[in-house]
Amino acid sequence: MGKLKIGVVGSGVAGMASAIRMAIKGFDVHVYEQSEVAGGKLNQLNGNGYRFDTGPSLFTLPQLLDDLFTAAGKEASSYIRYNRLDVVTRYFYPDGSVLNANADPVAFADECSATFGEPAHNILNYLKESKLLYELTANLFIFSPFPTYKVFSSPEAKLLARNPRRLRAFTTMHQVNVKSFADSRIVQLFDRYATYNGSNPYKAPGTLTMIPHLEHNVGAFFPEKGMRQVSEALEALALDVGVTFHFSSAVGKILTDKNGVTGLLVKGEEVKFDAVVNDTDIFYAYPTLLPEKKLPWLYKQQEPSTSALIFYWGVKTTHPQLELHNILFSENYRKEFEEMERGRISTDPTVYLFISSKQVASDAPAGCENWFTMINVPPDTGQNWPKLVEECRVSIQAKIKAMLGIDLKPIIEFERVIDPPTIARTTSSFGGSLYGISSNGMMAAFSRHPNHRKSIPGLYFVGGSVHPGGGIPLCLASAKIVDDLVSSPHNSCNL
Ligand SMILES: Cc1cc2nc3c(=O)[nH]c(=O)nc-3n(C[C@H](O)[C@H](O)[C@H](O)COP(=O)(O)OP(=O)(O)OC[C@H]3O[C@@H](n4cnc5c(N)ncnc54)[C@H](O)[C@@H]3O)c2cc1C
Repeated sequence: MGKLKIGVVGSGVAGMASAIRMAIKGFDVHVYEQSEVAGGKLNQLNGNGYRFDTGPSLFTLPQLLDDLFTAAGKEASSYIRYNRLDVVTRYFYPDGSVLNANADPVAFADECSATFGEPAHNILNYLKESKLLYELTANLFIFSPFPTYKVFSSPEAKLLARNPRRLRAFTTMHQVNVKSFADSRIVQLFDRYATYNGSNPYKAPGTLTMIPHLEHNVGAFFPEKGMRQVSEALEALALDVGVTFHFSSAVGKILTDKNGVTGLLVKGEEVKFDAVVNDTDIFYAYPTLLPEKKLPWLYKQQEPSTSALIFYWGVKTTHPQLELHNILFSENYRKEFEEMERGRISTDPTVYLFISSKQVASDAPAGCENWFTMINVPPDTGQNWPKLVEECRVSIQAKIKAMLGIDLKPIIEFERVIDPPTIARTTSSFGGSLYGISSNGMMAAFSRHPNHRKSIPGLYFVGGSVHPGGGIPLCLASAKIVDDLVSSPHNSCNL
């Protein structure tokens, strides 16, 4: 048999990571990307001397990225270098209190105790539980194909079957947090981790309380040249291992016959492939690229993750009271999520400020800062976005003035705005959802679209909208699963 020829649709993190892994195995891999550049949501914009990462800003589990370089026999540090952050996030509360979330668990617990009187052991116990939960579930729900007989017969699954409560799936994340902490501001801080995969802490299962383990025990990191360096490093590695990229090449259709996948339709031309990896959102892929195949009912029911409204502001002063990552909390967190459920935006949203020039001086002119100012918003269902952008600009700037004492109006010298329809248009994500599918509900992890469906031989799925979920680490995990499945298809015994 000749060299297996694989087509990858989309050059997001997961598309590139799977392409790299398959090229290392010796396959002939071609990545088709509709845009002119690689990276998908992990992109950047430049203007007036400012550079902004447009998508992800939090970088956790970098070892999953390093694994790719190791697999290729390369030194990761010759492609990307990153540093561990001492302060993960600086939190600002409406009552004027400020908390530095130190990466070090003991320093963090002491800070919570000194600022809010939260007993330090509550924080330390929580992070310990978070670690145990991660260790118990990671192999089942993150690093293996799901659902498979192999996973269900694993020692971890048997342990959980004996004591399902350990999964914390029968209670919401918020309920776990209320039980764990004395101070409502600490509850709000830990509730926020649900947004790390675009979920609602009042609906997401307590299983998501494993997320803080990644930031405080394993660590939060930042690449030396900013987040965009992650996709640049992936692209460079892909080229080095022999992947061929086709830019400005939108795939029109994934071609199939009764035996499975036969190739791709690109710019009206049929290109033959032995297998195809789809890195686009399944809610886009099924109706557009696979019109003859139906998205099964179970997966259709999944709630998309939240989207975002982001103002990229070039600010001509510096602000020592701000960190790389900053959160300006709202008065009523529950209300924010209730509004989003109704497709609306709260008048007092929590504001996230990410200023990469705090770490990468060249990202802003001297004496200036690049403010990535984001609020979580519902996915696009036809809201009047131009009007919402105007309203949110006013409410966000008013909040920043009230909470930080910074009057932005006279000091903003550059602005770009990205709203859900823009995210949807540029990355083909459903309604502009950031992470694909949310984890809102006890069964979310069990009902994600798998990485392979037996009924479509030769077609594999990676990226945020499929198992194990959204965010850079999980996208990298999906790429590894798919590489294993392509190499050993007998493993894909989906139920
Ligand atoms: C604003 C924002 C903030 C985020 N913050 C974080 C964070 O802090 N940390 C974190 O870990 N994650 C974060 N995420 C999520 C993270 O960016 C995504 O989960 C991840 O990058 C998705 O990668 P992917 O491989 O699924 O594909 P995507 O990045 O969605 O890429 C899909 C690619 O497919 C291409 N494509 C689509 N249709 C076609 C077609 N027909 N033909 C060819 N190409 C096509 C698109 O152009 C795109 O390049 C954030 C996302 C956004 C948008």
